Amino acid sequence: MLESSLRIGSIAGIRIGVHYTWFIVFFLLSSALAAFFRETHAEWSGSTIVLTAVLTTLMYFVSIVLHELGHSLVAIARGVEVRAITLFIFGGIAQAEKDAETAATEFYIAIAGPLVSFVLAALFYMLSVWSSPYSATFTEAFNWLATINFVLAVFNLVPGYPLDGGRVFRALIWRLTGNADKGTRWAVLGGKIVAFGLMLSGALIGLLPGMLINGLWLIAIGWFLFAAAEGSRRAYFTQRLTAHVQIGEVMRTEIPTVSADTPIVQWIDGQMLRTGQRSALVVENNQPVGLITLNDIIRCPRVQWPETPVRSKMTPVNRLHTVKPSNSIFEVLQIMREHNINQVPVANEENIVGWVDREHLLKIIQLHSTVER
Ligand SMILES: [Zn+2]
Repeated sequence: MLESSLRIGSIAGIRIGVHYTWFIVFFLLSSALAAFFRETHAEWSGSTIVLTAVLTTLMYFVSIVLHELGHSLVAIARGVEVRAITLFIFGGIAQAEKDAETAATEFYIAIAGPLVSFVLAALFYMLSVWSSPYSATFTEAFNWLATINFVLAVFNLVPGYPLDGGRVFRALIWRLTGNADKGTRWAVLGGKIVAFGLMLSGALIGLLPGMLINGLWLIAIGWFLFAAAEGSRRAYFTQRLTAHVQIGEVMRTEIPTVSADTPIVQWIDGQMLRTGQRSALVVENNQPVGLITLNDIIRCPRVQWPETPVRSKMTPVNRLHTVKPSNSIFEVLQIMREHNINQVPVANEENIVGWVDREHLLKIIQLHSTVER
């Protein structure tokens, strides 16, 4: 979802990035803050207002990064790797590479973020008190930051998955019943109720005079939460259903091959269009030398197909991603997503023993969920 983000640095091995939607909210928020300062401090100069608004907005985003770092550092301390923190239109997201394995881990990771926000609220409040004899500008900015961090902490504690409060709620039910599935179902239901509540109040508030934008904003947040709750539910059950199925059990063992000197046109007409398989292992003297896929040749002009051997468009074997028969379906789908590939050879030590493509895996997952339901 947030793949196209701009990297701005990294902390403790975690990549910090901003998604392009972040710039929209940066602009909206700093303009709203400028309007607020203009109204409450008519005596401030134009440049003071703009500068304060921009710096305060930046500090707000630093607060969000610290909130996400709170989650991430606890996650890392409890053995859950975190790849990236991404800022986007609705706040921040820390991307963990897997779900928490125990209720306690889930609980501590979830609670860490709001705790950081509460601490930041207290710090900014103290700063606003200390700065009040010296600078009305700083006091006003610190005051706003104290309030927004407090609101952030409280909003995030609402028990609707995937908000932090929803994760806490999930961990508590998981702990009480000993059943992680039950925790997920309840927390996702909570998330959907919260999402509907937000959309409904957005619709009502939007009808009030001059509140249309605020109402639409609430509806958008509600809509996003609803999609996120449903997406998390699906991701959770997909992972649970497929984490124990090894790729060796479901891979295809008859591997489509094509010899390295075969012209592209011959591979297309003689093989791909007949078998429906969009890729093949390229071999030379019975040794695999690469992988050719439909995507590799689609950029090659059609008139060149008769003279171009598949070898010149293939991905050579040393740059090839492979998976092991012991990898789970879930892990393999993750690898495919990461490297943006649709098929991958299965290799046992040095030998390629099988073959999987995304479509096949999705079909297997669907069958699993149909049978187990
Ligand atoms: Zn959080």
